[in-house]
Amino acid sequence: MTLGSPYIEVAVALPVDGAFTFSLTDALRPFAAVGKRVLAPFGSRRVTGYILGEGRPPAGDGGGYEIRHVLDILDEAPLFPPEMIPFFRWVSQYYRHPLGEVIHNALPAGLNLYDYAVETLTDAGRDALSDTDPPPLQSAVLHALADGPLTLKEIRRRLETDVSLSVVYTLEKKGWLTRSRQLKSPQTRERRERWVGSADPPPPSGNLTPARRRVFDRLLREGDMPLRTLRKDEPSASTLVKALAESGHAVLFEKAVYRDPFGDPILPDAPLDLNRAQARTVSRVGAAMAEGFSAHLLAGVTGSGKTEVYLQLADVAVRQGREVLVLVPEIALTSQMEHRFRARFGECVAVLHSSLGGGERYDQWRRILTGDAKIVIGARSAVFAPLRNPGLIVVDEEHDPSYKQERDLLYNGRDMAVVRAKLSGCVVLLGSATPSIQSYHNAVSGRSVEHVLNRRVSDRPLPEIEIVDLRRITDRFGARRFFTPPLQAAMKETLDRGEQTLIFLNRRGFATYPVCGGCGEAVRCKHCDITLTLHKAANAYKCHYCGFTRPSAAGCPVCGSAAVKLLGFGTEKVEAGVQALFPGARTARMDRDTTARKGSVLKILKDLRNGAIDILVGTQMVTKGHDFPNITLVGIVCADLSLSFPDFRAGERTFQLLAQVAGRAGRGDAPGRVILQTYNPSHFSITTARQQDFRAFYQREIDFRKALGYPPFSRLIQIRISGKDPAKTRNAAERLGDLCRSLLAADPSSRSAVAVMGPIEGSPHRVAERFRWQMLLKGTSATSLHRFVGGLQSRDPALFARGPVRVTVDVDPVNML
Ligand code: ADP
Ligand code: ZN
Ligand code: ZN
Repeated sequence: MTLGSPYIEVAVALPVDGAFTFSLTDALRPFAAVGKRVLAPFGSRRVTGYILGEGRPPAGDGGGYEIRHVLDILDEAPLFPPEMIPFFRWVSQYYRHPLGEVIHNALPAGLNLYDYAVETLTDAGRDALSDTDPPPLQSAVLHALADGPLTLKEIRRRLETDVSLSVVYTLEKKGWLTRSRQLKSPQTRERRERWVGSADPPPPSGNLTPARRRVFDRLLREGDMPLRTLRKDEPSASTLVKALAESGHAVLFEKAVYRDPFGDPILPDAPLDLNRAQARTVSRVGAAMAEGFSAHLLAGVTGSGKTEVYLQLADVAVRQGREVLVLVPEIALTSQMEHRFRARFGECVAVLHSSLGGGERYDQWRRILTGDAKIVIGARSAVFAPLRNPGLIVVDEEHDPSYKQERDLLYNGRDMAVVRAKLSGCVVLLGSATPSIQSYHNAVSGRSVEHVLNRRVSDRPLPEIEIVDLRRITDRFGARRFFTPPLQAAMKETLDRGEQTLIFLNRRGFATYPVCGGCGEAVRCKHCDITLTLHKAANAYKCHYCGFTRPSAAGCPVCGSAAVKLLGFGTEKVEAGVQALFPGARTARMDRDTTARKGSVLKILKDLRNGAIDILVGTQMVTKGHDFPNITLVGIVCADLSLSFPDFRAGERTFQLLAQVAGRAGRGDAPGRVILQTYNPSHFSITTARQQDFRAFYQREIDFRKALGYPPFSRLIQIRISGKDPAKTRNAAERLGDLCRSLLAADPSSRSAVAVMGPIEGSPHRVAERFRWQMLLKGTSATSLHRFVGGLQSRDPALFARGPVRVTVDVDPVNML
């Protein structure tokens, strides 16, 4: 869609509100279209912006401000369809995030051009280095620049110290440095491949050599093909094709190619015969697709065949000429889901997730934009996939906290899926065996339609869950500490039968509480108020908050003693325990340490599927919806870890983790068994997880939420304040608290709609050298809360501006710490 007006509305990728009007020179006018990026002047800078539509021409008197020309149009084709703009605006408004930055966040990474300042050493600066003796820091900066220009960030990195801007200004004033602005070129370009085709019309082939004729005939027969394909049968294809091109028989050209993210062969399959409950769901949700927006909750126990329901509903949507978006919480699940969709739908499937390389992600994005891909599968950010006309949006494992993005744009992919469906007039289907309190409450109160799959496919029984009361088991030493006699016995039996075991503990590392035997101090992080965890394989203590590591050989940071007692345990110690008890078993571990490398999760899952692993130890990563038929035993080492979190969702989270991990057992022909070790055998999160009964859990939990006025009976916004200077940070937090209270005092009507809690210190108080404070705003409605926060921001914009003390607004927070 090109634009008729010489004015365009542009959202710039900067922390500023709203969109701006720019004008187009005649030369650029034909190239402007919604969804393309422009390079725009903004103050003294040049920034990337996104064309949203036609701009408003200046009022008769010029409007009192000057409308500037955009400098360039950066894309040949739009990066998003116009249909997405209302969604971008909604996200921007709801999460109180600048529109241009929302779009920036939505687009595949690596596209953007950045304008950045570089410092260059002048001749005078060079002379100064040899002739004068500047103060040490200035001299260090000059030396760093002697090899060539650097950005301030690069100077800091090179000198490993925080060179302040004032040092640079001083040097500039002396004429020793000059600053210039440069454009960084985009890192992501489409990959191109050499193709060959026959000339049109083809000349007679009479005088060709047999080899050239063979290639020529094939091109005539099969049409254009990549040179790479031809080379497989014709090792000297390059020379042959070159000669054919010279004689006018063939043409060589370049073509954009799509990179396939996974290399696995996928065998096509056919739709399964649905059982009654599945069929009922498909027909009811399928019928709703003709009716515009509606929200549906698919509450189906683990292994009840939810994915088959998604597949058949996707088929309905695709047949109606509409697109399908399937969100999954985890990258590993993306590949499992992709596999099943590709088997059913073949090439029209695209995937989007963060572990794709920049180029791969861009390719997938383009396939969606051009309509090549009808079905998009991805992690939370895929909610921004550039679909024009979705007919169905599925959110699988909708309860999973990883739908919440915790940096930059703080949004919830599940909630935005519902909003996107509403704006697109389509059906959204949230699926889970353990629906979130929020989503089930929506179903109970009629805002969404509930569909139930109560039984496992082929009437496989749900696994039986036995509870072992850890309080009654004493005298446990060494590896026997983690595995009570019933669990050990079950592990042995499972191993003897040649079946697989999953051992779950939601804490990684070897020793989670290393304490010095010399001075009695816990080994703490240098940058955070938290103890370090010993990771044996890495020979290091690691901070799980800031990533700081300290060699384990270094001993106690306080007294230097090497006698550090390794108290506390995580998955690494449990894995060592498994190896000690069952030396013959093939064990593996799945947690963030073993899966840091790209592709490692897939490798573990593949080994599990191929039977190359007998016992898998893992964190919450193993609880996610994987389908492994040969796992017949699940052992839960300690069910209580997440219960004690000071978070109102601790009970919900615990229930979900336990019910989900239990659901990994007995998905094949052999029945499953779960042994759950706990110090709180009568806690309702644990008793209801044992029954895999989320309705029973909901009944208990909802009363507690109601009594305390927590969601779903209220809306929350958390404001986080952090900074390196403890006094300034505390000051800002207190200023914010005072501002909240004066706003409440000034507007009596807000007092009944908004409650203000805090500021309180974050826990831990210091993370990565930053001191943290937080405030919680609780509101009866989203509107009143938003109005209140809007009031705060307009009363004291300086407080919210980016500076040394950072204030972030987290709407619908998930992580309350
Ligand atoms: P869920 O997502 O509910 O945990 P899955 O969709 O993974 O369950 O289904 C579990 C297994 O049952 C899968 O291997 C799937 O192929 C199989 N399955 C699903 N529906 C049917 C059906 N109607 N008939 C036979 N097998 C089915
Ligand atoms: Zn010590
Ligand atoms: Zn740390």
